Amino acid sequence: MTIASTYLAVDEAVRNAAVASGRTPDAVTLLAISKGQSIAKMQAVYDCGQRAFGENYLQEALEKQAALTWTDVTWHYVGRVQTNKTREIAAHFDWVHALDQIKQAERLSAARASHLPPLNVCVAVNIDHNPKKTGVSESDVLAFAKTIATMPRLHLRGVMVLPEPRDTVEAQRVIFCRVKTMVDDLNAAGLSLDTLSMGMSSDFPEAILAGSTMVRIGTALFGARAT
Ligand SMILES: *Cc1c(COP(=O)(O)O)cnc(C)c1O
Repeated sequence: MTIASTYLAVDEAVRNAAVASGRTPDAVTLLAISKGQSIAKMQAVYDCGQRAFGENYLQEALEKQAALTWTDVTWHYVGRVQTNKTREIAAHFDWVHALDQIKQAERLSAARASHLPPLNVCVAVNIDHNPKKTGVSESDVLAFAKTIATMPRLHLRGVMVLPEPRDTVEAQRVIFCRVKTMVDDLNAAGLSLDTLSMGMSSDFPEAILAGSTMVRIGTALFGARAT
């Protein structure tokens, strides 16, 4: 399959899942995760209409942004936010998906230039309670998110999760629905979150059925990554 036909199939699958979840076809944003993928492949999906790209590594992202002189895309930083990179992340991205430390957030907010709109951010939640993984624990997320929401140059948009793969579709569904309930509870507690960044190549239809608003898809769009 060409990149274009793969792209169109994934885009259609995202739209179909959105409709199956009782929403409009464009209720879910397809975020193309382009880490480890070539400029040529990125250009091919751009030419198909893709306008949201996600990267994990700052240096790689900055090189691609310099080569691709697009002015009408949003760039999402989906990797871990290292404190010593916050200035450049705040300068070169529209979204940051994986906030899990107050210090990172303070530095991003302080660094975000006044001529740019506030930086859109999501809180990374360690939904599997895995001590080896990053992310805010479920019990801390309300207090953490409320603090982020006060930061002047950040726009708190929602929650990002990266659940471990489950053996069955049913088990996937259970964890995704638990995340959706958590977001609903946060909104009931006074936040106004409109984004649930959840679902990747292997599990995005289930994530959308559970209420994801943004799926982060790499290999299913572009093929295997260069190592
Ligand atoms: C790499 C990555 C993805 C994309 O993973 P695929 O399995 O290739 O779709 C999504 N989210 C994050 C945070 C990633 O690092």
